[in-house]
Amino acid sequence: EPTQAASPDIIFRSKLPDIAITNTLPLHRYCFERLPEVADRPCLIDGVTGELLTYTEVDRLSRRLAAAFRRETLGVGRGGVVMNLLRNSAEFVLSFFAASRVGAAVTTANPMSTPHEIANQLSAAGATVVITESMAADKLPPHGDGTLTVVLIDERRDGCLHFWDDLMASVPDDDLAVLASDVDDDKEFDPDDVVALPYSSGTTGLPKGVMLTHRSLSTSVAQQVDGDNPNIGLNDGDVILCALPMFHIYSLNTILMCGLRVGAAIVVMRRFDLATMMELVERHRITIAPLVPPIVVAVAKSEAAAARDLSSVRMVLSGAAPMGKDIEDAFMAKLPGAVLGQGYGMTEAGPVLSMCMAFAKEPFKVKSGACGTVVRNAELKIVSPDSGESLGRNRPGEICIRGQQIMKGYLNNPEATKNTIDAGGWLHTGDIGYVDDDDEIFIVDRLKEIIKYRGFQVAPAELEALLITHPCIADAAVVGKQIEPEIGEIPVAFVAKTEGSELSEDDVKQFVAKEVIYYKKLREVFFVDKIPKAPSGKILRRELRKQLQDHQQQ
Ligand code: ATP
Ligand code: MG
Repeated sequence: EPTQAASPDIIFRSKLPDIAITNTLPLHRYCFERLPEVADRPCLIDGVTGELLTYTEVDRLSRRLAAAFRRETLGVGRGGVVMNLLRNSAEFVLSFFAASRVGAAVTTANPMSTPHEIANQLSAAGATVVITESMAADKLPPHGDGTLTVVLIDERRDGCLHFWDDLMASVPDDDLAVLASDVDDDKEFDPDDVVALPYSSGTTGLPKGVMLTHRSLSTSVAQQVDGDNPNIGLNDGDVILCALPMFHIYSLNTILMCGLRVGAAIVVMRRFDLATMMELVERHRITIAPLVPPIVVAVAKSEAAAARDLSSVRMVLSGAAPMGKDIEDAFMAKLPGAVLGQGYGMTEAGPVLSMCMAFAKEPFKVKSGACGTVVRNAELKIVSPDSGESLGRNRPGEICIRGQQIMKGYLNNPEATKNTIDAGGWLHTGDIGYVDDDDEIFIVDRLKEIIKYRGFQVAPAELEALLITHPCIADAAVVGKQIEPEIGEIPVAFVAKTEGSELSEDDVKQFVAKEVIYYKKLREVFFVDKIPKAPSGKILRRELRKQLQDHQQQ
C-alpha cells in the first residue's frame, strides 16, 4: 500500500466572522471598559434586599478593596491568591475584581463544601486570604498562626477581619491616589497571569484547579458578546438573572463578566429558589435568564409559573449539563415569548466552546436539543477516540477546541495538562458529540459515561432525557452496572417520583422499552428521593455508583 500523508484536520468554525479581540488588558479593565457610558446605570441589584450598586459604585468599591488587599496586613499582590468561599453577593464581585486589580487570582469554592474539601483547595491553590461568610467560617482550618487571613462579610468575629468595617473602612473613599493605582500602572502586568482559579465540578473525579488568565477570560467574553453581531446579543438595557453560583465558571463568566462588559443590570440571588426566582423575574422585569437543566425542568413542570408574569424574559440560556429536546419543548410552552437555547462549556475551555446562534443579535434558526455552534475566533474538531483521526459532519467523536480562550493549564499539574491540551494546542474535552449539516453541535455524552452493553453504546443522557418526560418522574439518572465480562455493563436507572405519584419498576422499564432499541432498555430501576447533583446541575454519578455497590453488598 502506498504511504499516505496524514490527512489534514477537518476544522469547524463559527458562522459569525472572526473579530478583532483586545485580550491584553487586565480583566477588570476589559469588563469595565464601557464604564464612562454606563457610569450611573444599575450594575448589581441584590435580589433579597433590593439594594442597588451602580457601575461607578462597583468600580470605586473594588478599587478601595484592591487598596486594602495591597496593604501590609493582607499583602495580596501580583501572583497572590484569594479564595472566595461565598454565596452570590456583591462582596463576591468586589473581591474578584479587586484581586484582578492587584494582579492576584481568585479561587472560587462552594461554601457548602466540607472542611476537608476547603482545606484541600486552600492549600492546593496557595490562598493566603479567604473571603467568606458566617455560614462557612466554622469549616475553615485553624488560622490563629496568621498563615491565613479570614475575612467575613456578614459578622464580626474574633480572629477574623470584617469586609466592610475593617477592609473597606481602612481606605478612605477620597484617597484618589490609592484608588487610582492599578496593576497595569506598574509595568509588571502580563495578560497570561492567572486571574481566576476555578475548580472543575468534580463529576469524573476530584475537582481540578483550572488556571484561567486575563487573556483567556477576556477572549471568552469577547467571543460571546463582542462584535457587530455578537453571538449573545446582550445590551445595556438588559436585566440579567444571576441565580447560578458565581463560584462556578458558567455564572462567573457568562453572567457576571459578559453582563458587566455590556453594561447590563445583574440581579443577584444569594442562592437558587424556584418561587423566589419567578418572583424576581416579575419584579425586576428580567430579560435574560441563564439557567441549568434542573431549573429548566423545574420550571417546565411547575404549576406556579403560570401565576407569574414572566413575559419580560427574552432569552433563556441553558448549559453545564445535557438537556433533551422534549424538555426544551415543554419549557418553551411556558415561555412562548422567549428564545431558549444551550451553550456548551467546560471549565478548562474558558469555559464556553459553543453557543446557541438564536441568541445572536441577528439570530439564526436553530434546532432544539443542539448545544450551539462553536464560538467565533476558535476552532473545533471531532476526533475518533479509537484512531485519533478527525471526523467530518454527523460523525460522533471526542470534541476538541483550540483558541486563546482555553486555560493555561491545571494548577501544579503539568502531567494532567499535557494529557488534556495536546502539542497542537487542542484541548480534549472528554465529551462525545458531532457537528451536523448546519454547524450545530449535539453532545451525545461524556466519553467516560458511555455504557457499553454487549459492545453496543448506550448514552445515559439519552435515557435520562426520555425518563424525565414521564409525568410521574421528577428526575432521573442512568448509570452502567458492571456484570459478567461478556456482557459488560447494563443500564440501570435511579428515579425520583413526582409527589404523590404511583409508579412501579415495571412501569418505568416499559415506558423506556417502548421508545428505544433493545440494548438500551433499562435492566434495573431504583427509586430514590432525590438525584444527587452538583451546583452546576450535573448528576453526581460517582455517588450513584457507590449506592449501586452498597445495594449489591446488602
Ligand atoms: P470534572 O472535570 O471535575 O470531572 P466537570 O467536567 O463536570 O467535572 P465542568 O467543567 O463544570 O466540570 O463541566 C464541563 C462538562 O459539562 C463538559 O465537559 C460536559 O460534559 C458538560 N456540559 C456542559 N455543557 C453541556 C451541555 N450544554 N450539554 C451537555 N453537557 C454539557
Ligand atoms: Mg471535566
